[in-house]
Order: sequence, then C-alpha cells, then structure tokens
Amino acid sequence: MILLENVSKEYRNGVHALKNINLQIEDGEFVYVIGPTGSGKSTLIKLLDGEEIPNSGTVMVENVDVGKLKHSRVPIYRRNIGVVFQDYRLLPSLTIFENIAFALEVIGEDKAKVRRRVREVLELVSLSEKAKAFPNELSGGQQQRATIGRAIANHPKVLIADEPTGNLDPEKSIEIMELLEKINKDQNTTIVMVTHDSTIVDRFKKRTIALEEGFVVADIMKGGYIQHD
Ligand code: ADP
Ligand code: ADP
Repeated sequence: MILLENVSKEYRNGVHALKNINLQIEDGEFVYVIGPTGSGKSTLIKLLDGEEIPNSGTVMVENVDVGKLKHSRVPIYRRNIGVVFQDYRLLPSLTIFENIAFALEVIGEDKAKVRRRVREVLELVSLSEKAKAFPNELSGGQQQRATIGRAIANHPKVLIADEPTGNLDPEKSIEIMELLEKINKDQNTTIVMVTHDSTIVDRFKKRTIALEEGFVVADIMKGGYIQHD
C-alpha cells in the first residue's frame, strides 16, 4: 500500500510544490496522476522513490517510511520499486539483455538465475529477438518496453511510471498501456503513472488523481481526463 498523510513539500527556493496531500493507493491498483506543468506531479514521484523527502507528513510505501530513510538506504529501498521514465534511460553501451541483467546483478542475484529471469522478462515485453541489440538500434516503443522490463525484473510490488508514453505516437502508447495493464493484472503490481496523455486516460479508464498548484483537486474512480488548459 502507498499512503501519504498530510504531506507537504517546499523546495529551498520557497516553492510549495505539494500542500497537505492525503492519498491512499491499495495493493494492485493502477492510478493516473494528472495535472498541468508545475502542479507537483514530479515532486510526488520523487517523494515516492526517495529522491526527495517531505518537509512534513508521512510517505509510506509498502510499510517503508520513505521520508525517514537514511540516504544510504535509498538505493536498497529502490530495488523494491520499479521506476520508468519518459526518456527510457537505458545504458547505451549495454545490449538490451545486459541492461536488464545489470539491474539484477547489482542486487547480487547469481548468473544462472539472472539469465533465466532476463529471458522471461524479454518474452513478457516481446523483445526476445532484440536481446543482443543496443538501445539505439531500437524504436522508441521498443526502448520503452525494455525499460519496463528492466523495472519489473526484480518483481517489484510498486511500479512508478513518469510519462511513459510521453515520447511515443498513439499506436505505440496503446502498446505500452496494454503491457502495463498486463503487468498490473498478472503480477498484481501497483502502478502509479504520471501522464499528460488525455487520449490514454480517456481510453484506459482508471482511478485518476488530479493535482493543481500542489493540491489534490480531484480523485475519481475510472475518471477520464480533466481538462485544465
Ligand atoms: P510537475 O511535474 O507537475 O510539472 P513539479 O513537481 O516538477 O511539477 O513542480 C512543482 C513546483 O515545484 C513547480 O513550481 C516547480 O518549479 C517547483 N520545483 C520542482 N522541482 C524543484 C526543485 N528541485 N527546486 C525548486 N523548485 C522546484
Ligand atoms: P515498435 O512498434 O516496437 O515501436 P517500430 O514499428 O517503430 O517498432 O519499428 C519497426 C522496426 O524498425 C523495429 O524492428 C526497430 O528495430 C526498427 N527501428 C525503428 N526505429 C528505429 C531507430 N530509431 N533506430 C533503429 N531501428 C529502428
């Protein structure tokens, strides 16, 4: 479960990015976070992945009090959540296979187990034939599928996706959504997805949390997109 209680975040420059946020996201939910630029979406993600700590309030993810984690514990915490970004962030000098394997090797999995799991993941994200390709040899849609594969390789309970379809055309975006839905259903992975993509939000209806100027202004089951601008 993800639980935010009275969470506020003020940056050092005095900007109040999040103001008294209260949210509860159950295991296995798939939720969108929407809102205009500057509304606090990225800040929310950074609080969830331990990159930022709140000035007040509590951020709990799977019983970890993320805001109270020691700096040195953050990388260990992150092994248990998957994060996907708009710009993929694959390591350019490693093949797709190696990119996914690397994520498992750093946590000390043995080689045979790593190889088995990477093959499984490549199958799941439909990239088995691209195992030996380098990221720059893949289309955007394929790179994003590889990133998702890497993020879920360690069976995280929670997957955080920051604009995962932001650089993709509508057709490829639908493929990515279908993959995320499959992961959500088959593995009961909780998914929190920040998006600007109104077409996607309207087509794949899910709980939709809308932020505006640091406040939660709407939280609607099977919401659809709320037009701001
Ligand atoms: P969004 O992702 O919805 O565009 P952000 O969370 O990035 O919103 O930003 C919320 C507010 O916090 C904005 O006013 C932004 O300028 C400010 N902000 C974001 N990151 C920082 C930072 N590291 N330092 C200072 N201000 C920041
Ligand atoms: P996808 O449906 O996975 O996004 P595309 O239909 O865009 O893939 O691409 C079809 C084929 O063209 C793929 O096999 C991919 O390897 C190749 N391809 C697409 N874009 C690029 C690129 N920028 N560089 C190299 N190969 C590419």
